[in-house]
Amino acid sequence: MSCLKIDNLHVDVEGKQILKGLTLEINEGETHALMGPNGNGKSTLLAAIMGNPKYHISEGSITLDGKDVLAMEVDERSKAGLFLGMQYPSEISGVTNSDFLRAAINARRERPIPLFSFIKEMEKTIKEMEMKEDLAHRFLNEGFSGGEKKRNEIVQMKMLKPSIAMLDEIDSGLDVDALKIVANAILKMQEEKPMGLVVVSHYARFMQLLKPTHAHVLVDGRIVVSGGSELVDKIDAQGYDWIEKEYQVHV
Ligand code: ADP
Ligand code: MG
Ligand code: MG
Repeated sequence: MSCLKIDNLHVDVEGKQILKGLTLEINEGETHALMGPNGNGKSTLLAAIMGNPKYHISEGSITLDGKDVLAMEVDERSKAGLFLGMQYPSEISGVTNSDFLRAAINARRERPIPLFSFIKEMEKTIKEMEMKEDLAHRFLNEGFSGGEKKRNEIVQMKMLKPSIAMLDEIDSGLDVDALKIVANAILKMQEEKPMGLVVVSHYARFMQLLKPTHAHVLVDGRIVVSGGSELVDKIDAQGYDWIEKEYQVHV
């Protein structure tokens, strides 16, 4: 049973304090909807968990199955089972999608994956995500549309099979059809090999497709309200103003 524990996390970026004591626990099989107004630290939290060096942790802890995540390098975090589908995936010229994925998969194994198995799995995944066949041979995200980049993050997630996956606004830039493809792929993964899943999205409709077991609102660097999927509907209907009044935080 994978368990990611974030306790009293304080993070600053370029000298500015963004997270101010954030506590959150994510277990295998759970889907957490992470909401909150823009600029309150959702992406900062995910970047800090993944080990982006821009994000400085001044206090608190992050553990994965009791192991100190903060002591790990980025690649070690990835090998330990953490995955981040980024809000703005970067383009890497000169590295093909298949080279990138094969290296990442092999880094997680004792022996390299047989080339034939890898190709078959990659082809299957590309098909499931309804992407163009040449995807494997294209440079990582180079010249991809916004929607293609987001779908490619899901291709990576499906191939890497993380134990804890975090998806940052994975639905932005997707049209209605792509949205369904992405949501169904995530749901299917949760059924077949349950992960601890954290989803950031501004769209209640997308969140609800993923059947969240937990929902949280992050305001001013802390989680101020937690609940179940009914919280997603409440935010959708009423926005964040009520939180400001009820919890005396500045939204
Ligand atoms: P959210 O994802 O909730 O919209 P972010 O975590 O992206 O919020 O941003 C929280 C705050 O941290 C914002 O004020 C943002 O400008 C600042 N911030 C985040 N990342 C960086 C960065 N790499 N450099 C400078 N400021 C940043
Ligand atoms: Mg934002
Ligand atoms: Mg963000």
